[in-house]
Amino acid sequence: MTDCIFCRIIQRGIPCHKIYEDREYLAFLDIHPHAQGHTVVIPKKHAETLSELKDRQGLGDAIQNTMARIQDVLHPEGFNVGWNEQEAGGQAVPHLHVHIMPRWKNDGGGSMHSIIKNPGSMSVEEVARLF
Ligand code: AMP
Ligand code: ZN
Repeated sequence: MTDCIFCRIIQRGIPCHKIYEDREYLAFLDIHPHAQGHTVVIPKKHAETLSELKDRQGLGDAIQNTMARIQDVLHPEGFNVGWNEQEAGGQAVPHLHVHIMPRWKNDGGGSMHSIIKNPGSMSVEEVARLF
């Protein structure tokens, strides 16, 4: 997609600081890092969400290889890995991108649990019955 900023990075129309690349994925430093070495992994084929991504078999390897590269260079003590999906999930760039945030003890950050604390009105048992 020509109007997609991440597609333009893949087509090398916009520069990036590349961390890792394979045939189907590219990983580069986030331009507004929330942690030292904050990186995003993107598929080279445009897909807005995970379900839109037709061939996702190599995604896990691309994430792991990128984490290993960050580990070698920056020696973090942990990671947060995940993605914001759709507007309600906080997705600003509509091209799937997995955030990799290197973490250090006492770096002042939270965990996945600090994204939202709004469990809703149904109990866990009531939710479980819906499945
Ligand atoms: P999200 O809210 O998950 O859609 O996050 C989009 C991320 O893309 C943000 O963390 C931005 O800082 C990052 N971003 C946007 N444009 C660029 C760019 N040209 N190069 C690197 N990262 C970018
Ligand atoms: Zn795109």
